[in-house]
Amino acid sequence: MKTYIIDLDGTMYSGNKNIDGAREFVNYLQEKNIPYIFLTNNATRTKKQAKDHMLNLGFKNIKNEDFFTSAIAAAKYAAKNFTKRDCFTIGEDGLIEALADEGFNFVQEAADFVFVGLDRKADYSKYSDAIHNILSGAKFIATNTDRLLPNNGKFDAGNGSAVAMIEYATNIQSIKVGKPYPIILDILITEYNLKKEDLILVGDNLETDIKLGYDAKIETIMVCTGVHTKDDVERLKIYPTSCINNLKELIK
Ligand SMILES: [Mg+2]
Repeated sequence: MKTYIIDLDGTMYSGNKNIDGAREFVNYLQEKNIPYIFLTNNATRTKKQAKDHMLNLGFKNIKNEDFFTSAIAAAKYAAKNFTKRDCFTIGEDGLIEALADEGFNFVQEAADFVFVGLDRKADYSKYSDAIHNILSGAKFIATNTDRLLPNNGKFDAGNGSAVAMIEYATNIQSIKVGKPYPIILDILITEYNLKKEDLILVGDNLETDIKLGYDAKIETIMVCTGVHTKDDVERLKIYPTSCINNLKELIK
């Protein structure tokens, strides 16, 4: 049986609003015992916060272990590939918890790593401290590089904007973890003991969700409830396996 790998924002909900058909689709997967994992570039929420957000929106039977975030993938990637554990971190609860779970220590200077995730309270001195640490030799790891963050019909700066600023300042490229980069998929597959050919990626964003699957030759379903529309497919030349207007179309 295939495992659905489902995006959150723009696919399950949009900020604090439900997306039509999303709850019905998740109910259907649960009733049919079809496995699924929520895969999100959003590094700000912990698993529990992500679960509570969905329960508040009326989704049923959502569990902590249903979520895999770019924060978790970044922490596991660094823990697997390197032995040092001192990090300087720009990020919110989701990234802090993920790093603590992997045994990282949080330091101000002489860090082995600088992790950069979305931090809506970060300021000039925090970005400058990240730059100092990177210029002193810390590995620079970006949870995700989303340009923009949809926020109630408008767009705020996404984590990619902060990452780009630090790359520009340091002239050092980050290691990029989140969709569409393959690290998040590789870590997910290892953690959940999955096979690429058994996955179906579902998401609204051609440049992240669909590009990840397209590059990895995994089946993808684009749902036109978020950032991209069918018209964007040819413009971006990133091709989903199929394209739907509402997740109810997947209920059989
Ligand atoms: Mg999305």
